Amino acid sequence: MPASPLGSAPSCPCCNFVSGGGLFLPWNEEGGSNDDVGGSTSQDLSLSAHVIAPREAWDRILALHRDTNESHRNILLVDSHGHPHLQREVQYSHDDDDLALANAWVISLTCAVSPADWKDALEYASQSPHILPALGIHPWYLGDIMIDDIENPDNCADIHIEKYISWDWLTDLETHLSEHPRLLVGEIGLCKMARFVREFPKDKGGKAAALQLQKLVFSRQMELAARYSRPVTVHCVNAHGIFMEVLWEILRKMKDSSAEGGDEKDERKRCRNAFPPAIAMHSFTGTAHHVDEIMAFERALLRPEELADAGGKRRRQIQIQQRHESLIENSDTLRKNAEKDVMFYFGFSHSVNHLMCTSEKARKRGMDAVRSVPKDRLLVESDVHASVDVTLGTAGACAYAAHVRGVSIEDVAKLSVKNGLRFLSSLGSIPSS
Ligand SMILES: [Zn+2]
Ligand SMILES: [Zn+2]
Repeated sequence: MPASPLGSAPSCPCCNFVSGGGLFLPWNEEGGSNDDVGGSTSQDLSLSAHVIAPREAWDRILALHRDTNESHRNILLVDSHGHPHLQREVQYSHDDDDLALANAWVISLTCAVSPADWKDALEYASQSPHILPALGIHPWYLGDIMIDDIENPDNCADIHIEKYISWDWLTDLETHLSEHPRLLVGEIGLCKMARFVREFPKDKGGKAAALQLQKLVFSRQMELAARYSRPVTVHCVNAHGIFMEVLWEILRKMKDSSAEGGDEKDERKRCRNAFPPAIAMHSFTGTAHHVDEIMAFERALLRPEELADAGGKRRRQIQIQQRHESLIENSDTLRKNAEKDVMFYFGFSHSVNHLMCTSEKARKRGMDAVRSVPKDRLLVESDVHASVDVTLGTAGACAYAAHVRGVSIEDVAKLSVKNGLRFLSSLGSIPSS
């Protein structure tokens, strides 16, 4: 395990992430700039009956900055997932210049999707100390690492699926992680909707083989992220079952390799270290039930004593109670939870979770999921493909989450900055107890 990367300033520009002025890293709960976000919805800030447009949302967030005398409150948004280095299609209209300056108030993560854009992501991140890079292989782009001339097996079972892939990229990814101490891993994941899955050749095993390949590539990247103690940003669409399988397999593997009768504390630490320090489910399209299942896995991993004596009924009661607690503003439990080791986060975007969600049923299901996310796990993200869209995309995500959860945009902005900085600061930070 490499030493914590936050101790000394890295020499590479892409990882020179706000290290100069010590703006916020390493961030801690006590020194955080948003101590009041555990509070209830501010009375003087109006709630929205509909999703406020991104531009208006940004103006409100900016007004918050202008109204405050606290000079340290200079990070207004944390964009926990996007691809601005791709500089592809612009999504939001920009009619004035002040938005060009807006990125100065935004901390953002730019996520590569395939080895083909890793260099661009690192270069883009090196332009500003407010940008962190993430490298990985997105489940849509597995074609980029497939071996073209593999012989068609008469019987698919005869050939191990691993041989479909050229694995050089994994060594390259590891090299990048060792060279760049503040590099995250992403975008990685699982996606049943990917063209790669839908069009995977039947003679190579069809859809089932494609999903197995996604699972394999995802698992390898999770292992690497755990080994280098880097947070991951995960795309999981229509693949919740496989995602849970991967989590349990990692845990089972670790438990199987542990010596019998070992110290329980050590065993728990080993199991925790088998996972990345933080896992953000980005533009989360799962259901409230999926949120519960993921949170239950985290409790089983990090706080097994809470469930140890709990039977099925009691376990369900605990889950309901914890959900309820997460909805109570000003709750002491939340403050305590925030100080604990936390693993999972859930990010929502204006572009995917609001604009692309067109059916009434999906919209309702999505809103239930947003509401079920514990307060200390909520992230916002732009998920955009052009740098000019980062600010409005993230402000739009705040507007969406505020609308769904019935709180003000300003409160969501403050909360998501706090959570976002905790997520990004989890680099090399797994607690030892
Ligand atoms: Zn994605
Ligand atoms: Zn993305």
